[in-house]
Amino acid sequence: MAEGEKNKTPVDAEQIAYETVTCRHCDGYGCLYCNKTGSVEVRKPAKLCPSCGGDCCLYCGYTGWEHPRGKYD
Ligand SMILES: [Zn+2]
Ligand SMILES: [Zn+2]
Repeated sequence: MAEGEKNKTPVDAEQIAYETVTCRHCDGYGCLYCNKTGSVEVRKPAKLCPSCGGDCCLYCGYTGWEHPRGKYD
């Protein structure tokens, strides 16, 4: 018997926890940076963007939060 069979394991088995926070750009009213939901999902524990301190910048995808979901994963 040939041993050519290999099991493929999923690369990112580790689950990243997210929490929902209010979008700093629109303060919850809804804008294009939060998909008009007024809130964004950020990696836990939620921290304000170190580059802008929550004032929104390019690095936080204009959400004001560090590690917003999707954009920089
Ligand atoms: Zn927003
Ligand atoms: Zn920022």
